[in-house]
Amino acid sequence: MRLISAFISCLLICTFLLIGCSVKENEPENPVENEEAPIVEEKGAEAEAPEEMPEETVVTAPEEKPEEKPEEIPEEKPVAEYVAVEGFSLSFNSVTLSVGDKRMPIVSVTPSNATNKGESWISSDESVARVDRLGNITAIAEGTCTVTVTSTDNKDVYSTVNVTVVPQPDLTYIDGILIVNKTYPLPNTYAPGWETEASGPLWEMISAAKAEGINLWMTSGYRSYYDQEYIYNGYVARDGQAEADTYSARPGHSEHQTGLAYDLNDLASNFGETAEGKWVAENCHKYGFIVRYPKEKEAITGYIYEPWHIRYLGVEKATEVYESGLCLEEFLGITSVYAE
Ligand SMILES: [Zn+2]
Repeated sequence: MRLISAFISCLLICTFLLIGCSVKENEPENPVENEEAPIVEEKGAEAEAPEEMPEETVVTAPEEKPEEKPEEIPEEKPVAEYVAVEGFSLSFNSVTLSVGDKRMPIVSVTPSNATNKGESWISSDESVARVDRLGNITAIAEGTCTVTVTSTDNKDVYSTVNVTVVPQPDLTYIDGILIVNKTYPLPNTYAPGWETEASGPLWEMISAAKAEGINLWMTSGYRSYYDQEYIYNGYVARDGQAEADTYSARPGHSEHQTGLAYDLNDLASNFGETAEGKWVAENCHKYGFIVRYPKEKEAITGYIYEPWHIRYLGVEKATEVYESGLCLEEFLGITSVYAE
C-alpha cells in the first residue's frame, strides 16, 4: 500500500510538475507576441485583475486629454494680449509740392504687432494743404503748413510732415491769383479736382443764401482739360469756332479747370435780373467769390456776360475787386486774347 500510495504521490507530483512546465512553456510565448502589441499585455493583466480595468481606463483617458489642451492654450494667449503702440515713423517728414499735387507718406508703426495701429491725420492749415483720413496730402495754395499723424491708441505717439506748397510751373499767378483766361492757359496736367479751397466757401454761401430765402444750387464746378476739350469741340461743331469762342473756353483756358469756378442755377442770361442773381452779385464777395464775366466787360474778359459764373479769390481779394467795380483783367491790368 505504501508503495502504491508512494507511486500515486509520485504520479501526482509528476503531473503537477508537468502542468507547471507546460504553463511555464506557454508564458514566454505571450511576451514575444506582445512586444509588438503591448495592449495584449495589458489585457492579460486586466484578465488577472478585472476589478482594476475601469481604474486603468479612467487613469489613461484623462492623461491623454490634458496633453492636448495645453497645446491649444499657449497659441491663443498671445493673440488676446494687448500690445501698446510705441512709435510712428513716416517715409518722409518734409515735402515740397506744387499746387494741385498729391503725396502720401507711408506710416510705420512700432512695434509691428501693436494691437491698435489706428491713425488720425490733421493739417495745421487747410488753406495751404489738406490731408484725408488715409494720409493723402493735397497742395491747395502757396505757403507752408504741418501735417500730423497721431496714433488713435496713444495721442502722445505722432509724426509730422512739413509741407511747402509752391506755384505749379507753367501756371500764372498775379498778385497771388491763379490766372486763367484767353491769354493765360493751364497745362493739360493741371487737375486739382473738386476739393479745393473754394469748395467749403461755396457751400457756406449756398447755406447763407438759403437762410435768406434765396435758392442757389451749383450746376457745374471742376472740369478737367479733357472734359473741356470735349465740350468745346461740340460747340465748335455746332456753332463754328468764332461763335463758340464767345461763350466757351478752349481746352486749357477754362477757369473750371482750376476747381475754383462754379456755375450757379440755370445758366440763363436773365439770371442777373432774378432775386437769386442779384443776391449773388451783391453778396458772393463775402464768401470769397466774384462774378467773373460782368456785363459790358465782354471786350476785356473775352466772354459774354455770365451772371451765373463765379470765381473764388478769397474774401480779401474778392472784396477788393467787387468794390473796385472792375473786372479781374482790369483790376490786374492784364489781357484776355488768344495768341493766334
Ligand atoms: Zn462757368
